[in-house]
Order: sequence, then structure tokens, then C-alpha cells
Amino acid sequence: KTDKYDRHLGYLWYYSTDTSNWQMFNETLISKGYARVGYIYSQKRHLDELYKAQDYAKSNKLNIWSVDGYVTDKGFDVEAYNSNTNTSSSDSSSSSNTVYANGGSSSSNKYHSTKNAHNMKGAIKMTEKEAKSKGYVPCGLCY
Ligand SMILES: [Zn+2]
Repeated sequence: KTDKYDRHLGYLWYYSTDTSNWQMFNETLISKGYARVGYIYSQKRHLDELYKAQDYAKSNKLNIWSVDGYVTDKGFDVEAYNSNTNTSSSDSSSSSNTVYANGGSSSSNKYHSTKNAHNMKGAIKMTEKEAKSKGYVPCGLCY
């Protein structure tokens, strides 16, 4: 089934050769800190297991949980991520990263991580440093 944004929702099961057992991919993602638990309406099946997986990722500060304040009840706080990571040494090394600035008829001043992010047309390839000097700012969805 789909939600009000037309996204497909479901539980994906796969056979793990590591554990010789069927596992829920949703749970795997959450336990590794690649996703947070979210549910809608009265769909609460598997919720206890998923929260348990999330507690594990949380207490081990895995991935999305590695930055304080990044994960919120409603999603992810990009500001919290930026303010907690910009002070590190990553800034100068990332300036030569390739980014894709909005081009063509679009008036957006965002740059993105991939050439066809959000079905963007006419992306302009440049370094992150170049993009920033031209007044582009990082896309909140890509970064
Ligand atoms: Zn983007």
C-alpha cells in the first residue's frame, strides 16, 4: 500500500546467509543506524522489534545516531548535522568534492550530490568550493 505521499510502504524480508534465517530488511536498516522508526495510522505491526533495533543503534551511536540532535521525531535536522560536523577537518578536504549545481531554467541556488538528483535537468558539474564561491548552497536532501 502507499501513504499520502504515494510512497510504497511495506516489510521486506530476505534470507540471510549469515544467520541462516529470514530477516526483516526494515529492521536491519534500523539496527545499523541507517533509518529511524516511523509509522502511520494504526499500523503497529513489528513496532516493538523495530524500536528494539533502534535502541541498539541509538546506544551504539551508529550512523544517523552519531550526530547529536540530527534525528528528530519528524525526520532529520540538517542544521544540527551541519553545526555538529562543520567544525571538523572535513571542510577543507571536501571542498574539492564534485557537486552538481542546478542549471538551466531552474532558479534554485542549490547544489546536489548527483547529476540527476530530484530529476534535475541541466546540472552543472563543479567542485564544492567552486559552487560555494558562486553562491550555491548545499541541498538539504542530498547533504
Ligand atoms: Zn539535492
